[in-house]
Amino acid sequence: MEITVLGAGVIGISTAYELACRGHKVTVIEQNSGPAQETSFGNAGLIATGHAFSWNSPNLISNVLKPNSNAKSAFKIKWSLSPELYKWGIKFLLNCSKKKFIEFSNSKRELCQYSHILLKKIIE
Ligand SMILES: Cc1cc2nc3c(=O)[nH]c(=O)nc-3n(C[C@H](O)[C@H](O)[C@H](O)COP(=O)(O)OP(=O)(O)OC[C@H]3O[C@@H](n4cnc5c(N)ncnc54)[C@H](O)[C@@H]3O)c2cc1C
Repeated sequence: MEITVLGAGVIGISTAYELACRGHKVTVIEQNSGPAQETSFGNAGLIATGHAFSWNSPNLISNVLKPNSNAKSAFKIKWSLSPELYKWGIKFLLNCSKKKFIEFSNSKRELCQYSHILLKKIIE
């Protein structure tokens, strides 16, 4: 199959590599002049496949709305007048229930366990 991957960050490159190993013809398109110039540029190299909790914690709502919460929280919001931020924020907050948090964290855990096995194979 001919597959196009958009973006040459760590996810795009890993995806393209896996697909090429399976015999697909892969083209990676990157808007910058080279790979890993956006978020992947800042990667500290920590391999944390057990880091499986999801961001949609039910406590997030109270933490985000607390005055001065931004100073300590890992989750920071830069308030703006953009309607997109509020549309996205409402959708996100609607997913901050205990049930969804457990559901998403379990899915992430499965993905982490699978990634851990794959990573060992890649290193070998
Ligand atoms: C400071 C910092 C430290 C971190 N440390 C760690 C760590 O130790 N361990 C860890 O596991 N994670 C770490 N992370 C998180 C991790 O680096 C990111 O989750 C990861 O890099 C995201 O990769 P990505 O490929 O999804 O995104 P990106 O690296 O952002 O790649 C997306 C690429 O898509 C391109 N693109 C976007 N739109 C288009 C388009 N329309 N056409 C063509 N190209 C496009 C962009 O230019 C970019 O190159 C860290 C993040 C930061 C910021």
